[in-house]
Amino acid sequence: MWWANLGLLPSILLRASLPSPRPEIIVGSCVIPSQRVSVVGEEVLVPLAEFADAIGLKAQVAGDKAEVKGWRGTVRLRAGSKRAVVGREEVVLPVPPRSRGGRFLIPVFSLSRLLGLFPHWDAERKRVWVSPCLYKVEVNPILDGAEVKIFLTAPAKAEAKPLPDGRFVVDIFPAAYDVPAKGQVIYSANSFRVRGAQFTSCPDVARIVVDLPPGASATMMGPGEGAAFKIVVKGIGPIPSPTMPMQAVVGVEVGRETVTVRTTGRVRWTATLWRSPLAAVVDIWPARSAVSGEHPGVGPIKRVKVLDLESPPSTVRVIIELAERMTPFVLPSPDGRALSISLRPSSVRPSRRVPTGRFSVVIDPGHGGRDPGAMGPSGVEEKTLNLDIALRVAASLRARGIKVILTRTGDFYVSLEQRCKVANSSRAHCFVSIHCNAYPVPGAKRGVEVYYYHQRSLPLARAIHARLVKALGIPDGGIRRRRFYVIRRTWIPAVLVEVAYIDHPEEEALLLNPSFRQRAAEAIAEGIVDFLLGLSR
Ligand SMILES: [Zn+2]
Repeated sequence: MWWANLGLLPSILLRASLPSPRPEIIVGSCVIPSQRVSVVGEEVLVPLAEFADAIGLKAQVAGDKAEVKGWRGTVRLRAGSKRAVVGREEVVLPVPPRSRGGRFLIPVFSLSRLLGLFPHWDAERKRVWVSPCLYKVEVNPILDGAEVKIFLTAPAKAEAKPLPDGRFVVDIFPAAYDVPAKGQVIYSANSFRVRGAQFTSCPDVARIVVDLPPGASATMMGPGEGAAFKIVVKGIGPIPSPTMPMQAVVGVEVGRETVTVRTTGRVRWTATLWRSPLAAVVDIWPARSAVSGEHPGVGPIKRVKVLDLESPPSTVRVIIELAERMTPFVLPSPDGRALSISLRPSSVRPSRRVPTGRFSVVIDPGHGGRDPGAMGPSGVEEKTLNLDIALRVAASLRARGIKVILTRTGDFYVSLEQRCKVANSSRAHCFVSIHCNAYPVPGAKRGVEVYYYHQRSLPLARAIHARLVKALGIPDGGIRRRRFYVIRRTWIPAVLVEVAYIDHPEEEALLLNPSFRQRAAEAIAEGIVDFLLGLSR
């Protein structure tokens, strides 16, 4: 459960301290006077409308039902019922909410916790305080500096104080400091440090201190999206990222149909096609280039330019200028020290076309970014193969006159919810999610499987499955019904394809072979065309 993350906060024994006279409630920086509050057992009931207003969250009441939009999803309540729903999870409240005199009253301690807020009792002044939690501080490298992002579960205020001794102090209030770090130091590199702590309690002030080396500067920004603040630090030179270390692009080799980019370590990337000038463009991050400039081309590759982008920072752009339209496919080497960009002519004549512009399809490459998916014995990550196959499917469909929407086009994270949103807002005719399979006992299973959930998706599953089984020559794992999120929460026919088992050595070897991936992609595209033509019949 996500709110268990907030368990670092000191727990308070209410039984001993909560008084029978009605306490005052300080929510955020507003006061709910004691006349509008009632004590029930260990809980305090307060009007939801006032509570939500004070803390800066959206609430809606309709009859005996209410909803509050919190940090990690909506909390749904019903007057008289101890059951509440948070996102998709059901929880039991110690005291039910009530509806009285046109007002919806909520148990302030339990609802606050469900919303990721920190409620606590101030015995000295006989008050209840409810504050947002400061739950995460992220430090990311930017050009010549760092970006310190501060995340809260609800809106708060911030005050920045640059001190003459080089410290940049930011007080955030009201806020309960709840960053899971050992001690106060959140990040430290050379003489640049970020620290955090609870500065005062009742009122709750959290303090973030940035220790700056001489010549460096800091600027406070925000609040931005999701109640986040940002401190932009400049003049500290490059710093390593705590999540992904900065890499260098150290070599570029140009072949007839491939460009190999050598890096010092694992990087993220995205690939696009420019029309004018005609070029395949691959952005690589977090990285800096040691080989900036022009590299001569061969065959259809006219030349390759490498440069550091100013924005987004820590990004190297590789521009592959082309003599004809080609589609780039990027595959990192298993050791993460090279990106192989292969280029295929975009104008391969497909066997069958459909009326141009009549159909559109959403293709969803599974996983991406910080979510690598499964891993093969050689170290290849599922997300990479999924994207490669998906891009091949997209190229094949586009060549047939079908509009394709991809949920991602590079190695970055996209939530399952976002993927469904793309499908549901697209007016596309179908949705196909592409994955490679893995089994808890690696290597124990093999073959191709196609999943569906809603009955309306079965014809699409059948069409793709038939083509794949014929094309791949690996065991037939069949068509299966499963409650996968992306095929359950999409409103159009939706299937999830598990092309082969990445954890089976033989099937991994197949998946690492570009011609196998091309065959799989063509089969998926053919299956989609079968389905679409069936629709128009
Ligand atoms: Zn997967």
